[in-house]
Amino acid sequence: MEKRTVVIVGATGSIGLQTLDVLSKLTFFKLIGITYHSNEELAMRIAKEYKIENIVCTMNGLQKLFELFERLRPDITVVCVPGFVSLPITLKAIECCKRVLLASKEALVCGGWLVRSWVRKFNVELLPVDSEHNALFQIIEKDVEKVLITSSGGALRDWKLEDLEKATVKDVLNHPVWKMGKRITVDSATMVNKAFEVLEACELFSLQSDQVEVLIHRQGIVHAAVFLKDGTVKMHVGYPDMRIPIAFALTYPHRYYSNPTWPDLISTPLSFGPVDQRRYPCFHIVYEISKDYAKRTAYNAADEVAVNAFLNGRIKFTDICKVIIKVVEKTTGTCRDLKDLEEIDQRSRILAEEVIKCL
Ligand code: NDP
Ligand code: MG
Repeated sequence: MEKRTVVIVGATGSIGLQTLDVLSKLTFFKLIGITYHSNEELAMRIAKEYKIENIVCTMNGLQKLFELFERLRPDITVVCVPGFVSLPITLKAIECCKRVLLASKEALVCGGWLVRSWVRKFNVELLPVDSEHNALFQIIEKDVEKVLITSSGGALRDWKLEDLEKATVKDVLNHPVWKMGKRITVDSATMVNKAFEVLEACELFSLQSDQVEVLIHRQGIVHAAVFLKDGTVKMHVGYPDMRIPIAFALTYPHRYYSNPTWPDLISTPLSFGPVDQRRYPCFHIVYEISKDYAKRTAYNAADEVAVNAFLNGRIKFTDICKVIIKVVEKTTGTCRDLKDLEEIDQRSRILAEEVIKCL
């Protein structure tokens, strides 16, 4: 059988490295290209270990990456870079590949309708890597009434509300369930990540936002559920290990990845609870802005800027949500194409910096 060729965009990150690990355990795939942004040393080590000749650095823009896509036309591209930049990358990957594995939820948050129309136009498979959406992909049926995606609640889920403003970067990066990149770990503590995931679910499964429920589930083994009209609820259960959804998306419709370690259901009683609006003040606004791509793009841009400012010690943890709420409130715009979104993204970043200066 001819091997399926793979390119990883963001190979030096958390999802990128776990994809490499999965690929090393599967035989039907050939990794032919990788990208990195700033970690050249790691990229060179990966290239040597996996004998990859096509290595692109994205520090100076996306042109070289786009040329790589055109030249290699891989069977599969894994898109796992954070932020707005994942949108143009995803669109180009859809143009040039047969299957796109999407970890970067920001692409759908900002330009979901564009991604969907590109998928239709180029007749490509778009498979979610995000654990909850990969779980939904496995259990969803036509005509679901609603779906559930779960959240750990992030690193500060048990903190007293009045202590949240004192949270340090180290406190916030100490995630109770998952080991991930810095931005998504901060986004888990604010639940901005889960807000993104509500929109991601709407785009992937043609749902309205009020059909996507979120509950806090501390054990992290139920990833998602679907509610069917005859009273049936189907849940997806498994260890929180991103290699499982990555492998499924790579090998779908087969399950070639072998990893028979299942959660111990006797020693893990399951609990589910509501999302507290006071602890996560910018989670619920996602339901108000779900149909407005300008505000969604602003939400992402403001978060990117605010999270960086927090990581660099410029603002407090609790300021992140203040910045997001202000920028979203002030942003309006018409979204017809990628150019419109790029303009709103840039404008929102400038606004976010202004809000930060006035805090
Ligand atoms: P990391 O921060 O660990 O890795 C990011 C990767 O993207 C690195 O390879 C980095 O390169 C590269 N990169 C960073 N900035 C840019 C840029 N401006 N342009 C191009 N490439 C860039 O992130 P994660 O792997 O945690 O997350 C990646 C995406 O996957 C995010 O959208 C996240 O929301 C999503 N995701 C992650 C999950 C996880 O468990 N980690 C789970 C579900 C979704 P370098 O390191 O060389 O600078
Ligand atoms: Mg997720």
